[in-house]
Amino acid sequence: MTSSSRRGKVRRGRPPAPEAERKDRLIQTRVEEDLDEALRAAAKQQRVTVSQLIRNVLHDTFRLVEDIVVNTTNLTESVKRDARRIAASAQGYASEEEAAAAKAARAAAIAAVVPPPPAPVEEPLENVLAWQEVVMGRERPCARCGTLLAKGQKGFLGVLDDPSAPRPFICATCAQELGQIP
Ligand SMILES: [Zn+2]
Repeated sequence: MTSSSRRGKVRRGRPPAPEAERKDRLIQTRVEEDLDEALRAAAKQQRVTVSQLIRNVLHDTFRLVEDIVVNTTNLTESVKRDARRIAASAQGYASEEEAAAAKAARAAAIAAVVPPPPAPVEEPLENVLAWQEVVMGRERPCARCGTLLAKGQKGFLGVLDDPSAPRPFICATCAQELGQIP
């Protein structure tokens, strides 16, 4: 893309004035000594005056920003990657990966703070009024030993005082150990 076509495409609002009609304005600014030295060194290296160097830098920077704003929808993958890298570095991360890891860590921390839904309060097995021998209609773990009671298998359903409390199922072995069946 040539500079003239870019200028034509990028500039919005008022059309740009022809080069000869443009009036230069004086912009003054105070800079730190370090920056001043760096500017002088860079100007010397590029064989331009400090003013020219600053003008070029400002010009390039704002043209770049305009280009990015105008072409956001057409950004190539590599530019997007660069932008993410710049964003990562601006946030103090060494790499895009590190930034992503930090983001994941933040999400995990938030997830850790949010309490999990309360587990149903299980009545202790000692509170069971009676054990009713049942045929399992669905697979359930034994409330005492965790053994999976398969569908169709014999199990024992605990009858509780509180009919709204979740009723435990136990396996035949546990029922035997609890002295419920011989
Ligand atoms: Zn069991």
